Amino acid sequence: MIGDRLAAIVGAGNYFAPEVIEPRYLEDETSGTSGQPAGLVRPASTEELSRIMAACNDVGQPVVVQGGRTGMTRAALPRDGELVISLERMNKITDVDPVAGTLVAGAGVPLEAAQQAAEDAGLRLAVDIGSRGSCTIGGMIATNAGGTQVYRHGMMRDQVLGLEAVLADGTIISSMQPMLKNNAGYDLKQILIGCEGTLGIVTKALLRLRPAASGYETALCGLPSYDAVIALLGVMERRCSGRLAAYEVMWRNFFDRTIAPGALPDPFDQPHQFYVLVETEGFEDGILPTVLSLALEDGLIDDALVARSGLDRDRFWAYRDYVGEITRAMKIVEPFDVGAPLADLGRLVERIEREFEDQLPGSRSVFFGHIADGNLHVAIELPDEDQRIVSERIVYDAVRDIGGTVSAEHGIGMLKRDWLGHSRSAEEIALMRRLRAAFDPKGILNPGRIFAQEDHS
Ligand SMILES: Cc1cc2nc3c(=O)[nH]c(=O)nc-3n(C[C@H](O)[C@H](O)[C@H](O)COP(=O)(O)OP(=O)(O)OC[C@H]3O[C@@H](n4cnc5c(N)ncnc54)[C@H](O)[C@@H]3O)c2cc1C
Repeated sequence: MIGDRLAAIVGAGNYFAPEVIEPRYLEDETSGTSGQPAGLVRPASTEELSRIMAACNDVGQPVVVQGGRTGMTRAALPRDGELVISLERMNKITDVDPVAGTLVAGAGVPLEAAQQAAEDAGLRLAVDIGSRGSCTIGGMIATNAGGTQVYRHGMMRDQVLGLEAVLADGTIISSMQPMLKNNAGYDLKQILIGCEGTLGIVTKALLRLRPAASGYETALCGLPSYDAVIALLGVMERRCSGRLAAYEVMWRNFFDRTIAPGALPDPFDQPHQFYVLVETEGFEDGILPTVLSLALEDGLIDDALVARSGLDRDRFWAYRDYVGEITRAMKIVEPFDVGAPLADLGRLVERIEREFEDQLPGSRSVFFGHIADGNLHVAIELPDEDQRIVSERIVYDAVRDIGGTVSAEHGIGMLKRDWLGHSRSAEEIALMRRLRAAFDPKGILNPGRIFAQEDHS
């Protein structure tokens, strides 16, 4: 009995038979429906996890790995017969080194806790996403999470110096050297980062910290057109010499929802077609107001509000962070997270909006995103569950036609498997499958994620 073997590894208190699993392990941010899992196990250490995987591999027991279950692709929810492995007990932060600028975080450490530990050491973990209180370092590495600081500091991949992971057969792979450069053969950690738990289970990471942020300047701007959005970005890049920290764009349909009755106050006298939250860091000299008044003279912006205090800064970010409230208020919501060359994003949105209107009457959508990274988010409220597939075809066909990606940051998981071929060639997908088979010959790690069908015969 695998249950007995698992209980012997983690102790009876950390193995749960299917009928006593708490509901939270069967729910995620996408309101997806879970299958009937084979059990739940909560290892406390890499060694325990290694023994669990060796036992599962022996008998071909499929597993699903869980971090904070904030992922947007339904990938952490168990399917029928899968063993849930929750890493929530592997939540220690150790080896904070202010001189080297590093810390070691267990896979189950919530992002916010790692950010706080960095801050306590006078440094900064330069990655931030809205789910910071619940998402975990392991989940972020598995999904190569992005967020609002990617333009300056890169994605999760760029914060990871070293990694430890357990493979499907229980082998422990450890490469925890704090070196920026290491060309001794393949960089295996980079293959594991972003693999969505299909090649290995991240157990801990050596994270790179940056100098503490200072000299923030933040503004909320109203703009007349997408061309102006792109032109202002160019001006910011040139004038702020690499200090542009955030460039978050909200289409009018998004911003209107933030200022609807009962939501946030409207900070502008009149509506604008586009709203940009722009932030620089490392300047103490008021460069942002200077650049923005020139942009105003050139007609790139119609209006701009510059933060005069930390309170103002929080107030401005509240509009961008209102996304959670907007999507929660949508009854049937389909979230998209696509990417495209910057110059094409405006046209992409126009095509999608047009086709939504024609083919999905009664739907309502909002557009926003980390536009400087070429990353567009779309959330559409559908009148009917059956229309999901129509909305997906509209968005993903449009993305394919301009050479974009069906996932800029959330990954493929369970929700985008059928669309992987819109962004990757048959040869690329075949190579991905060969990699998967090499790492996990029995296909027990997060099966059915990324690839629609898996053949392990
Ligand atoms: C309000 C909100 C805002 C968000 N904003 C962003 C954003 O700006 N950018 C962004 O990229 N994402 C964003 N997300 C999505 C989500 O937070 C990220 O995908 C996050 O990285 C998931 O972490 P998690 O610990 O919750 O992982 P989970 O949801 O538990 O798991 C996600 C995937 O990783 C696998 N996994 C989890 N832990 C491990 C591990 N230790 N080893 C191997 N595989 C593992 C799971 O099996 C699953 O496939 C947002 C989500 C919400 C709810």
